[in-house]
Amino acid sequence: MLIVGLTGGIGAGKSTVAQLLASHGAAVVDVDALGREIIAPGGSAVKPVLERFGSHLRGSDGGIDRPALAAIVFNNPDELAALNEISHPAIDNLLDERIEAIAATRATDVVVLDMAVLVEGTLGRDTRFPYEVVVTVEAPPDVRLQRLTGRGMTTDDAKARLASQATDDQRREASNFVIGNGGGTDDLADAAGQLWDALRNLADERAA
Ligand code: ADP
Repeated sequence: MLIVGLTGGIGAGKSTVAQLLASHGAAVVDVDALGREIIAPGGSAVKPVLERFGSHLRGSDGGIDRPALAAIVFNNPDELAALNEISHPAIDNLLDERIEAIAATRATDVVVLDMAVLVEGTLGRDTRFPYEVVVTVEAPPDVRLQRLTGRGMTTDDAKARLASQATDDQRREASNFVIGNGGGTDDLADAAGQLWDALRNLADERAA
């Protein structure tokens, strides 16, 4: 099993590349969604979060009221650290379960972890996650800005989001493969096809 971390700044085209890799046969796990799942109704972090941060955080659906939790940890490193102590192991367990479930199907031996914050976490390789190869999707800031405003974000919001993220240099440094997505969708499909071939070769080497 080859586990690939796929990242990229907002608007760079990460989700599009994840879809393209899935169409070639990769299994894709949305790691950012796991963070939401653990505090959704029935999630493993619901009880510990209520115990640590207060029962007023229970939402009407039985999950955690995410905006209220976000307000507690925002700009408060101690509370954020306490939340991470609960959420990180919960996410890691859920991810292990997902990877095991994918392995059990024997349908593919390439798993792509789609994760926006792979580089920001540690400004380097976040060793918490079990990926062996890192792929970054990048595009020039003006192109990303155009894509974000094109899908409804205001220019100010889009600029703020771009400024808060890791730089291309930081991402490149942590990557084994970089996909440039400054061109059109055909170019991106070609690049994703080449990336898939390279990942397949690595997975085959692993299996040999
Ligand atoms: P990310 O996941 O990195 O934020 P997405 O893959 O969602 O980015 O892409 C952002 C937007 O730009 C989407 O609407 C997507 O369809 C569009 N897009 C991505 N790549 C291209 C491209 N090469 N040409 C035109 N539009 C693109």
